[in-house]
Amino acid sequence: MSETPLYTLTDLSKRYTRGKETITIFEELNMTIAQGDFISIMGPSGSGKTTLLNLLGGIDKPSGGAVDCEGVRVDQLSQGKLAQWRASHVGFIFQFYNLMPTLTAAQNVELPLLLTKLSGRERKQRVQTALEIVGIADRRGHRPRQLSGGQQQRVAIARAIVADPKVLLCDEPTGDLDRTSADEILETLQLLNRELNKTIIMVTHDPAAAEYAARQLRLDKGRFVESQAEMA
Ligand code: ADP
Ligand code: MG
Repeated sequence: MSETPLYTLTDLSKRYTRGKETITIFEELNMTIAQGDFISIMGPSGSGKTTLLNLLGGIDKPSGGAVDCEGVRVDQLSQGKLAQWRASHVGFIFQFYNLMPTLTAAQNVELPLLLTKLSGRERKQRVQTALEIVGIADRRGHRPRQLSGGQQQRVAIARAIVADPKVLLCDEPTGDLDRTSADEILETLQLLNRELNKTIIMVTHDPAAAEYAARQLRLDKGRFVESQAEMA
């Protein structure tokens, strides 16, 4: 792991106002995330886990404080710059896969590349490589409904890595899977972390899933608690 953090969050706060009421999700949150880390985040429903991923991925703006990713103030990027930054820096993985039902696995994986300058031939190569890495290349022509949950999540992971981002933001990636499929997905994430040095931030409700991470955090009442010492 490099010494310079990938992410630095400084005095990060997020509030929502509803009428006269202000709800504070977190306040003065400070943390660094090292390049190559694999972090799991657990915590009660509504504690702000998804909100935090959205702030890291530039999908949402904080109410205060800074999100720095390798010197880029993600919280200050304009909408246009954000889309570009996001496309090259982060991959998102969701609980319900969010695949396009009418597209094949390969077409789903190709989607993020349509925003790039890559030629059709280069795109096809990248799609094939991503599908192979997650072990689903043999289903490249299948549509989502022809695939199991675990297979759909593999396609979603291929889509998340196809543009070769450094960071994967995973929001309960195994929340809809049986134990065996969940473990396979978690092993795939671990492989991406160890072999391809992807930095992974994974929200989960499942303590067994959290065990796959090198660093386990709990978000509760706007504070982070390191729930276990960092493992090798
Ligand atoms: P978690 O993912 O930990 O379950 P979320 O990040 O989704 O929690 O939500 C944290 C809190 O913020 C919840 O109380 C939720 O109701 C609130 N919240 C999220 N988005 C909005 C919004 N757009 N407007 C108002 N409140 C919101
Ligand atoms: Mg959530």
